[in-house]
Amino acid sequence: MYFTQTFIPTLREVPADAVIVSHRLMFRAGMIRKLGNGLFAYLPLGLRSFRKVEQIIREEMNGIGALEIKPPVIVPAELWKASGRWDAMGESLLRVKNRLGSDFVVSPTAEESFTALIRDELASYRQLPLALYQINTKYRDEVRPRYGVMRGREFVMKDAYSYHADEASLDKTYQAMGRAYRRIFKRCGLSVIPVKADSGAMGGSGSEEFMVESVIGDNTLILCKNCGFGANVEKAACKDDFDAPPSLEAAQIAAASTQPLEKIDTPSVKTIDELWGFLKTEAKSFIKTLIYRALNVALDLSSAPGGTVLEKRKPGTDGTAVYPEAFFAVAIRGDIDVNEVKLAAVLKASEVGLAADTDVVRLTGAPVGFAGPVGLSKIPVIADITVTAMKDAVTGALIQDAHYAHVAYGRDFVPWLTADLRTVVAGDCCALCGGELYEKKGNELGHIFKLGYKYTQAMQVHYLDENGKSRIPIMGCYGIGLDRTLASVIEEHHDDDGVIWPMTIAPYQVLIIPVKYEGEIKNLAEQLAQKLEQAGIEVLLDDRQERPGVKFKDGDLLGIPYRVILGDKNLALEVPSVEVKRRGEQDSYLLPIDGAAEALTGLIHTELAELNR
Ligand code: ATP
Ligand code: MG
Repeated sequence: MYFTQTFIPTLREVPADAVIVSHRLMFRAGMIRKLGNGLFAYLPLGLRSFRKVEQIIREEMNGIGALEIKPPVIVPAELWKASGRWDAMGESLLRVKNRLGSDFVVSPTAEESFTALIRDELASYRQLPLALYQINTKYRDEVRPRYGVMRGREFVMKDAYSYHADEASLDKTYQAMGRAYRRIFKRCGLSVIPVKADSGAMGGSGSEEFMVESVIGDNTLILCKNCGFGANVEKAACKDDFDAPPSLEAAQIAAASTQPLEKIDTPSVKTIDELWGFLKTEAKSFIKTLIYRALNVALDLSSAPGGTVLEKRKPGTDGTAVYPEAFFAVAIRGDIDVNEVKLAAVLKASEVGLAADTDVVRLTGAPVGFAGPVGLSKIPVIADITVTAMKDAVTGALIQDAHYAHVAYGRDFVPWLTADLRTVVAGDCCALCGGELYEKKGNELGHIFKLGYKYTQAMQVHYLDENGKSRIPIMGCYGIGLDRTLASVIEEHHDDDGVIWPMTIAPYQVLIIPVKYEGEIKNLAEQLAQKLEQAGIEVLLDDRQERPGVKFKDGDLLGIPYRVILGDKNLALEVPSVEVKRRGEQDSYLLPIDGAAEALTGLIHTELAELNR
């Protein structure tokens, strides 16, 4: 391809809103342009690399037997109403009407579309398992699109959905997807960190995210220095800093040696620090009690206290009770924070958040700041596991300006439920090996997820099993963002001058720069380009009437792996030669022009084979 015949509008300056490297370089290298907030056009150079990412993903999906389809991006609202997400998705869902006034959704993801297709086609267990995927446009009305194509409003996602007769079959596909994802990212030259992730209100055993380390990442990853364990902080557990949680009976026996519960007046105490000083204690001895409001709780609350404050239950789509709104007290050791994602998972709630002050007062009977689990009867108390090891603690007394001392779990209060609700932080110990955990910021490139029966149940998908019995298939879903993957490749592979493409993703593999585009140099440059192209190599020939310096600068910016310079001096050597430089390496070297095409082809194939291995 001739430079003058393509469209690569390189820029020296950087747009003001481009704060990360990939955004800046994609702009400057003429890969993308912005058409609106979160809306980008890929220009020819950007599209070439984009298509390569796409092809790698397609090959790996096909390789594990997933089948590509192409559903529409605009989907009838009925499907989203059937799954319940027409209401649940909120503002990020773009809804449109047609001329007849019918509602449609611009797909932000496609569980509904795929499941509707399956519902209409699935009849027998013989059709299962089935894994389908698309590589298609998505739209999410992100509140704050930023970082270029990293978080756009319109983007392209590979999303796959699999349907199975049983959990074992789902697990097999889930594992195969995980392996395919690892290969995809390796082939793109990316170092990803797979981490365990929250699997949401559906529970279930499997959810894994593929992260790249990134200062702009919105995810906190908890990683073990010793055994390589990794989890999103939303999911991360850690080893308790006490022996195994005691049984209730054991705790009650242990509590016998604790002094009796004592109410202490704490009138002058305004802050937590003042409280420690006043009681001569520390955060670790305090049972912090927070009142939470949860929405759409699917946990069975029939045995929970406080029927008066729970709205009447309404059956969920899968037959379980769902409480539209419920309140809980969460008790946790004073030096630890509640992990709200874990709490939502325990409650099987769509959303949790701290209750309003008025609710706190109504439910605890005391001003904010004096809640405690002792004597709290209006709402269920959920205790973090750390609390089960506390037998001489301090906590709020449900009365203004009063606290309890010598509080013992099991003796002075018994929570309705005990669960791991702790936010793990750097320095905690790995639950697997006891090693030290540390934190990193990460950006999510892909996600694989065992969905369970949520969509197949809500959308009434059935098939007949071997015995002619009607059953509902179990489902998994698997997504990768193409734009974000491409931008992440640049984040990982660049220097001050521009991109340094891995061979597999490079828009072209060889950039030929004739120092002047005329006479013999022009002929030789064209011959070399032709030979390389005949060998299947992708070549960009810089035929512009520009100074060599301009061409070199642009060459560095575009990041094409091999740069071949044709100049009078080297061509006049005894063995006429060209200068070759691998982008990202310091030194260039001379290659005889005879055989240069073959030599370069060999080098490129070696690099490709290494990445695609
Ligand atoms: P995030 O937490 O970053 O918003 P998500 O968890 O909502 O992502 P998924 O629904 O799991 O994302 O989508 C699968 C993949 O789609 C993500 O891993 C990411 O690569 C990509 N993706 C999601 N939202 C965007 C976006 N606004 N712009 C570009 N890519 C996106
Ligand atoms: Mg996700």
